[in-house]
Amino acid sequence: MTVMPNSTEARDIAYQLHPLVDLRNYGKTGALVIERGEGVYVYDNAGNRYIEGLAGLWSVAVGFGETRLSDVAKRQMDQLAYYHIFAHKTHGPSVDLAEKLIQMAPVPMSKVHFTSSGSEANDLVVKMTWYRSNALGKPAKKKIIGRVKGYHGVTIAAGSITGLPRNHESFDLPLDRMRHVSCPDYAGSALPGESEAEFSRRMAAELEALIQAEGPDTVAAFFGEPVMASGGVYVPPETYWREIQAVLRRHDVLLIADEVICGFGRTGAMFGCETFGIEPDVMVLSKQISSSYMPLSAILMNERFYEPIADESERRGVFGHGYTASGHPVATAVGLENIRIIEERDLVGNCRRLSPLFLERLAGLAEHRHAKAWRGVGLIGAVELKPWARAGAAGAALQAAAQAEGVIARAIGDSLCFCPPLIITADQVNAMFDAVGRALDAIAE
Ligand code: PMP
Repeated sequence: MTVMPNSTEARDIAYQLHPLVDLRNYGKTGALVIERGEGVYVYDNAGNRYIEGLAGLWSVAVGFGETRLSDVAKRQMDQLAYYHIFAHKTHGPSVDLAEKLIQMAPVPMSKVHFTSSGSEANDLVVKMTWYRSNALGKPAKKKIIGRVKGYHGVTIAAGSITGLPRNHESFDLPLDRMRHVSCPDYAGSALPGESEAEFSRRMAAELEALIQAEGPDTVAAFFGEPVMASGGVYVPPETYWREIQAVLRRHDVLLIADEVICGFGRTGAMFGCETFGIEPDVMVLSKQISSSYMPLSAILMNERFYEPIADESERRGVFGHGYTASGHPVATAVGLENIRIIEERDLVGNCRRLSPLFLERLAGLAEHRHAKAWRGVGLIGAVELKPWARAGAAGAALQAAAQAEGVIARAIGDSLCFCPPLIITADQVNAMFDAVGRALDAIAE
């Protein structure tokens, strides 16, 4: 890449530290500068158009350039750009969204607390879980179980629950209270002849054995994404969550559903918990809650989770926690309008209607001689390539070739992942996979 002096590209390399790159060698390739977005498309600074096949970072449900959201943001900024919710203050937008989320929740929920990112929300759920165990007089009940390839963010506690080595190595993570069980990747890790139901029972037995070995009195919570996304898109077998939940109930372990990606329609129901029959104690929401137009996340908790925490705060005189931006009025106003758009335009229905085509086209890609497998549900999926000499090289090559064909998708290892805006049309789904098919042919040369 030739980088013009003083260009955005050059100044980016000079000044900005980026996530998920090799920092030392970042400047050799630099970045694609995205300048604007409209619908499912984004445009770079040379005017090239791309289908945003990952909806940004799995998040822009309503597509780019939605002026209903910018209008609401401007109105709210003009009226009250910022206020906090500390110490007996509140404001309408946070209340309106909290009420809406409680009404929408697929299982009875008691309270909402707003945060600004998925990591922050998950970190706080860990802290509140510990606070709750202390409140219940069970100070030893503090361990948290996540899953290999699970992703819950990168802050110290959330990053510890994440089950990806690159988020642990050299960061001194995970914390010593965190444990991990296997990824429910049936296609990749079933035993010979093992049915999906048997596989799910084995996964549950592994979890139960871990809880027994640690001591049920030391295990507080299990975190899981209904569909694992950032680890490479792993859709669990139908009975997986039922089996897991039975174990958690037997040992009084809380279930935290990380709906940061699944929430607001991604799996073909409003929440991933509905698609998979999950009855969580806590739901963590972000990304499509505001289509990422504003940073926003929310923790929904049931009474079982909330009540001991409220009791403890009464004993202490205060709940000693709070973020400056919790319930930010512009973020919550945009979130509510975004959810109205999802409902009014029936984007969950659009996801359900387009899902068969989306999955059929993914399966078609997987028939390519370079491909090995596909996985997906709703409008989230991945095609996995046969590995080249170096793991991840084939995935990276396909990601680059797809971009050259006008599709931005995300390689995770050798899987290319798709999660397009929920407003996508059948023609755009076809255009996206036609382009990726050409990219597969190109890297096969
Ligand atoms: N949980 C899940 C399931 C996620 O996918 C992500 C982000 N990809 C996070 C948590 C962390 O969210 P954030 O990047 O906003 O901290």
